Amino acid sequence: QQAVEALERLVRDVPDFPEPGIVFKDITPLLADPAGFRVVVDALAAVGRGDDGTPVVDKVVGMEARGFMFAAPVALALGVGFVPVRKAGKLPHATHEVAYELEYGEAVLQLHQDALAPGDRVLIVDDVLATGGTAQATCELVARCGARPVAFAVLMELGFLAGRDALGDVPVTALVTAP
Ligand code: IMP
Repeated sequence: QQAVEALERLVRDVPDFPEPGIVFKDITPLLADPAGFRVVVDALAAVGRGDDGTPVVDKVVGMEARGFMFAAPVALALGVGFVPVRKAGKLPHATHEVAYELEYGEAVLQLHQDALAPGDRVLIVDDVLATGGTAQATCELVARCGARPVAFAVLMELGFLAGRDALGDVPVTALVTAP
């Protein structure tokens, strides 16, 4: 509830960014507010805990670039490792890669092959779930390592885009949903 209040107060809608017709969710005021940032990170970390409060995941994966800002502190809060998923050409070691459709064209995401072990339970964290393309590609990368995406947590889900349908059986937790 505190997290919902923080998101409502500290995430602003920027119309026509990055192009006309898109209303962009700007999280920078949230990042600048330590109390709000903390309650949101705590609410995301709760997704990775069982009923007794202990972590039920082995790793937290975050996607470049805004996903990093939430996934890394969530990993620290849970006491598990953080693993980055990056755009093509940024990770230095051997990678798995998945290409996916964007509104215009295609994007490629990569993950280090040795970043996850077979059987690892993975919490994926990002800021916004829109069409689900980024989330789906990330689940695919996790699976390529033999690891299991067990939960996906985001600050905001744009409900009208039905992104969670792209994720199949992976349970999605959104702290707030825009209709
Ligand atoms: P999707 O792949 O269409 O679900 O888009 C989700 C990705 O795009 C996430 O990694 C978000 O960081 C980014 N994104 C999409 N819309 C917004 C927005 O309004 N604000 C911030 N990030 C967004």
